Amino acid sequence: MGLAEKGELGRRADVLDAMLAECTVCPHQCAVDRFSELGKCATGSEAVVASCMPHFGEESVISGRRGSGTVFLANCNLRCVFCQNHEISQRPKAFLDQGISEDDLAEIFLDLQRRGCHNLNWVSPSHQVPQLVRGLVRASGRGLRLPVVYNSNGYDSVEVLRLLDGVVDVYMPDLKYADADVAAQYSRVPEYPDRARAALEEMFRQVGADWHLDADQTLTRGLLIRLLVLPSGLADIADTLRWVADNLSPRVKISLLAQYSPQHLAARTDRYPLLARTISAGEWTQAMEALETTMKGDDHSVQVHAR
Ligand code: SF4
Repeated sequence: MGLAEKGELGRRADVLDAMLAECTVCPHQCAVDRFSELGKCATGSEAVVASCMPHFGEESVISGRRGSGTVFLANCNLRCVFCQNHEISQRPKAFLDQGISEDDLAEIFLDLQRRGCHNLNWVSPSHQVPQLVRGLVRASGRGLRLPVVYNSNGYDSVEVLRLLDGVVDVYMPDLKYADADVAAQYSRVPEYPDRARAALEEMFRQVGADWHLDADQTLTRGLLIRLLVLPSGLADIADTLRWVADNLSPRVKISLLAQYSPQHLAARTDRYPLLARTISAGEWTQAMEALETTMKGDDHSVQVHAR
């Protein structure tokens, strides 16, 4: 709100908008003019929202009692073969010409606030940050007061994240892989580990390891890293946790996720045999042991979804 009142939020929105003309909004750096062409994310210059609702299935510090105000952005800047959300992220034709104005986006934000949500939760925002911040400028002028949760795949631009300093309250990124070859094979982005780790360093610089909770015990400021345990050790959770502990802090909160199931190409083809099953009890135990031995915080968050 302080940034909005000083006009700084509008200035940041202008800087972000300018990036759309030769797009460098995410690490792909497609350099396309998003007012007339599409880059790898297949998303133009307007916001494209797949759905929005109070969501009760996030971690308890995010969903709270009244739900998290999720805004699921359509399309994505990654193409993971096992995407658990592929109907939204990898069907660009379904969302062609579905762009909405910044006023409509602001109205979505305000409606989630009116419905009592604890926060505004941008899901897969990396390729739509300019549009989201423009919507925030409009909504803040009309009374939006919710904390902003940045719920991303981790493939984020450090330059863009710097412009979100003081705008985003809670960072909730994935760290999908530790190995470039695995990232290349399953998300077609070998540089994912390097880029995502750089992004995480910037998120940590902004909000640190400590959590700020409100009276409802929902998160109002902080970092929560989501680690989805993949079968066959593909996520290399132990390596990722060692990196977090050594380069960020062993007190960073981790949400370890067990709910992987074969989806999308991992389910529809036989090209990815290592991803063709849920994780075993042994793989989950290994991941939990790595968490307990590597992270030294007294209250790291663990979210376990039923398999
Ligand atoms: S946001 Fe989209 S167009 Fe821009 S660099 Fe990333 S993938 Fe390319």
